Amino acid sequence: MIFTVAIDGPAAAGKGTISRGVAARFGFAHLDTGLLYRAVGVKGGDPILAAKSLTSEDLARADLRSLHAGQAASKVAAMPEVRAALKDFQRLFARREGGAVLDGRDIGTVICPQAEVKLFVTASAEIRARRRWLELGGEGAGAIYADVLAQVRERDDRDMNRADAPLRPAADAVLLDTSALSSDAAVAQAVALVAARLGRADL
Ligand code: C5P
Repeated sequence: MIFTVAIDGPAAAGKGTISRGVAARFGFAHLDTGLLYRAVGVKGGDPILAAKSLTSEDLARADLRSLHAGQAASKVAAMPEVRAALKDFQRLFARREGGAVLDGRDIGTVICPQAEVKLFVTASAEIRARRRWLELGGEGAGAIYADVLAQVRERDDRDMNRADAPLRPAADAVLLDTSALSSDAAVAQAVALVAARLGRADL
């Protein structure tokens, strides 16, 4: 069975949690496409060459989840040649046998416009920054909320306003605002949507 679930949205909206939950529930493979851009961003040298020659070691680096990697990713992600170099891998992953969940910014709009389910996950910038700040360890770890909020806003701005594949919902995406939802509730809504599309009401 070929079945793609495209999950797009801004940083820390809950895409990762929802994607992992959906993939686990249906036995689908999961690709966090942000990791590809993060790996290119931190690799150094020419980003286009880096995108063309990404290795599994690059994708296993321990620092890919850092704020620095997120900022570096959104800078290289604005380069059309970088996006082009990463496209085929994502498309093949999306249409692999057995079902796939991909999360990112342009999965439903550019990578897989034919995805069977498209979800656009959002939450307010303040709530997303608070989640990221807590993930970083909060005050105890020396994280500064105002800095995290500024970085979230800067990244949103860059991702939404770039010329190539800007962050925006596909016309046929279902919007899911997680601002007031627990992660379990958000996953449950996404699972229900996929189950309905699969036509398996008993799931
Ligand atoms: O999702 P994550 O925060 O890991 O993504 C890091 C950055 O990579 C984003 O801010 C965005 O600029 C870029 N990205 C993208 N397209 C995707 C996934 C991520 O442009 N499909």
